[in-house]
Parts: sequence; structure tokens; C-alpha cells
Amino acid sequence: MNRQNPSQNDPVNDPVNDPVQDALDPNSSNLDANDPNVARDPVCGMLVDKRTAENTLSPTVGSSEDTLYFCGADCKADFERDPQRYGYANF
Ligand SMILES: [Zn+2]
Repeated sequence: MNRQNPSQNDPVNDPVNDPVQDALDPNSSNLDANDPNVARDPVCGMLVDKRTAENTLSPTVGSSEDTLYFCGADCKADFERDPQRYGYANF
């Protein structure tokens, strides 16, 4: 009789890469949604720093909407294509 050994224990190497980057990197975008200087990109939902945002969009004069801030030109372009899709009618 040939006896085989079907179950070999292969040690599973499963390193957990979970670097904690809390306040270590001052340039990381740890933005707080409650910060008055922080707005939310209406397209992708990303938080955007109003002070450094380069892609903004102002509503038409007379509307009650606030200026919108986008994380990038792509999101702004998406928004401009169809503002109503994102719940805005006055842009
Ligand atoms: Zn975006």
C-alpha cells in the first residue's frame, strides 16, 4: 500500500501591512468635515480644503447655493456636465 501524505502544512505568510499614519505626515489630507475651511466635493464626496482648492464653482448670481469645491478638474467637469444629477440646479 502506498500511503500518501495529502495534507502538508504550508506555513502561510500573511504579513499585515497596516501602517498607521495618523498625525505623522502633516501633508496628508486629514481633513475634518466639521472644519469651516473644509468643503465636500459633491461629485466624489472627498473633502476639499477651501484654502487650497483650485477647482471651484460659483453658483449663478442670486441663488442661495454656496460655492462648490472640487478635488480636481475631472470632478468639476463631471459636475458641470450635469449639476442636477448632484442635486444642484443653479449652476
Ligand atoms: Zn472629486
